[in-house]
Amino acid sequence: MAGREDSHHRLAQLEAIRHCRAAMMSLAPVVPFVIAPFIGSFLGVLVRRIPRGESFAIGRSHCEDCQTVLKPHEMIPVLSYLLQKGKCRTCGSRIDPHHLRIELTALAVPACVIATRLLTAHEQGFPLAEADFSLPLLLADCFLGWMLLALAWIDRICMRLPDVLTLPLLLAGLAEGFVNGGTEALLDRTLGAVCGWALFALVAYGYRALRGRSGLGGGDVKLLAAGGAWIGLAALPIVVVLASAFGIVIALATTLRAQRFSMTVMIPFGPCLAAAIWLARLTLTAQ
Ligand SMILES: [Zn+2]
Repeated sequence: MAGREDSHHRLAQLEAIRHCRAAMMSLAPVVPFVIAPFIGSFLGVLVRRIPRGESFAIGRSHCEDCQTVLKPHEMIPVLSYLLQKGKCRTCGSRIDPHHLRIELTALAVPACVIATRLLTAHEQGFPLAEADFSLPLLLADCFLGWMLLALAWIDRICMRLPDVLTLPLLLAGLAEGFVNGGTEALLDRTLGAVCGWALFALVAYGYRALRGRSGLGGGDVKLLAAGGAWIGLAALPIVVVLASAFGIVIALATTLRAQRFSMTVMIPFGPCLAAAIWLARLTLTAQ
């Protein structure tokens, strides 16, 4: 008798664990949306301080006009800006909408991740409720998206992809490969990083040798290496093709707007590369 009761008890426990896990799975997509505005707020600081050569790790947030240090309730992303109608509470000067812009853009990152998962489930004929929303993978994709967002934004401002972001991104990609896919994935990601680096380093060297000036920056080389660390070797060619296509479209648009043709039109290649890596990764993890 006692044995049967035990097994009943055990079954009930298992059932409870299953329910709990199902509830966690259905909550998982909400998590990145909740943290996105806070991440966006930090990205805003990165994008503001890195091009100016300021440290982003130290120094508390303050009003850029009156230098008053912000209180916690004045630092709630999006909400504080809206409640204060975009003005500093102490001196009334206008808060740069840059912060609001990047906080809202950071929300687009989990939106893209979830949308791709749902679209893929729909295309493959699965019910949407069965789309794969494992939290570690969701967060990994969002982390990549947020880093690429900061890099693209900084490159647009100052034509630079700082090592302080590209190199940690590369290491994070390798680590993510190992954690989610074991040694086989780690090997594939390492090959992706090495080949990405070698390919762009060669192109940069060749261009400089032929044209006598640099066409591809060292930051672009490191960003493709970081991209390889997140998507692996097989997806690398599509990233290069996509990024080049984006680059050509932007160069043409820039030339048309300037209304004069030039072979030396300078465009930041980082945003093109970031968009291509992002698209490749989303398609890979949604499968
Ligand atoms: Zn102020």
